[in-house]
Amino acid sequence: MKNVCILGSTGSIGQLTLEVIDSLGNRFYPYALSCYKNIALLKQQVNKYKPKYICITDKEASEKFTPPKGAILLTGIDGLKALATHPKVDILLNAIVGSIGIHPTLEAIRAKKRIAMANKETLVAYGEIVMKEIDKNKTILLPVDSEHSAIYQCLNSRQSKIKRIILTASGGPFLHKEITPEITSKEALKHPTWKMGAKITIDSATLMNKGLEMIEASILFNVPPENIEVVIHPQSIIHSAVEFIDGSIIAQLSSSDMRLPIQYALTYPERLPSLVKSLKFDELQRLEFFKPDFNKFPCLKLAYKSAYEGGTMPCVLNSANEIAVNSFLRKEIKFSDIPVIIEQVMNTHHTIKSPSRLGSARQAISDIESADNWARKEALTWICEKYTNPKINSEVV
Ligand code: NDP
Repeated sequence: MKNVCILGSTGSIGQLTLEVIDSLGNRFYPYALSCYKNIALLKQQVNKYKPKYICITDKEASEKFTPPKGAILLTGIDGLKALATHPKVDILLNAIVGSIGIHPTLEAIRAKKRIAMANKETLVAYGEIVMKEIDKNKTILLPVDSEHSAIYQCLNSRQSKIKRIILTASGGPFLHKEITPEITSKEALKHPTWKMGAKITIDSATLMNKGLEMIEASILFNVPPENIEVVIHPQSIIHSAVEFIDGSIIAQLSSSDMRLPIQYALTYPERLPSLVKSLKFDELQRLEFFKPDFNKFPCLKLAYKSAYEGGTMPCVLNSANEIAVNSFLRKEIKFSDIPVIIEQVMNTHHTIKSPSRLGSARQAISDIESADNWARKEALTWICEKYTNPKINSEVV
């Protein structure tokens, strides 16, 4: 039996991971679970799965939680690191939201754990450092994101050169709707194909999610951004594809169900029966593909811009986006303000080109952390000065 540490077990991916573990019998044990502050759900998970370690990142919430006999409760980032590196843990499944996930990820890599990675913000901001540490410590990182899992599966054991990656996108709730300043968080949170956490759902509505995934793919598969093509595919049946230098294209297809990439990241290189509904080709009405509209979805354009710039810029894009999305969810700004804020922060940033190549890993992390903190402050200041609108604040979710 393999012991799994699930960071973010109360989130959308975390809950699905527990479902997958349930379905696989005695192969995996959720040895450690964590949440930020949703202790009501964590309590249910602890009662059901009886993990040996629990971490509640928020200190105040952790004080309201009494661990059952035999379980140890930790708190804060140090708690996340301790869970991720515990000698009895075999796999870290990182399903935290936000680039805060870098801390347990790096520690777990150094402790030579296998990493199953859903936490895309960490790869966007710190990707080069993460991949260097993966190589150095001779461990593996399995992507959980369905597109990257698809690309990983297309590339499996193939040494051939890649011509381009075709990254598919559902197009989100506004694919065929006009984006107006009146768009509410309720409308933006209605994703047509996937049921996910709030932050990634808003990112899907702005297409920033596809931008983050393009950067993630560039890092994970060492393919330059100009060779990664985003294609809108509203049916979400083809999860991504790879074209090799001879013109041959290999794609991964399945029903839209995150339990498949999660299971693959846990069981790799084995494939096991899963809960995912088999795809019936004769029931598929049609598969459509369109070019994305970069003017309607400026976040995608900004993501490419940051990827071409490289260095600390993808981290700045990600941090400004995290702040802008939170402000939109708190009704402080409008949906259409999100790209404006990100662009403003990017325009004032002085990029450090290749932080990880200039010095030690510690220096590189410190450079990116400085850019991360700077971008968050810059975005917050901009929002306070320009956008905070009492009328918007008073709306009800
Ligand atoms: P959710 O918002 O549903 O869950 C996030 C999890 O992280 C929760 O357990 C939450 O705890 C915890 N968390 C939030 N903030 C912190 C923090 N500061 N410190 C520690 N833990 C924290 O997100 P998703 O499951 O949708 O997404 C998780 C990650 O996976 C994201 O990076 C997302 O982009 C990526 N992803 C998600 C997909 C999906 O289908 N949902 C698909 C592909 C990638 P609490 O519940 O207590 O708030």
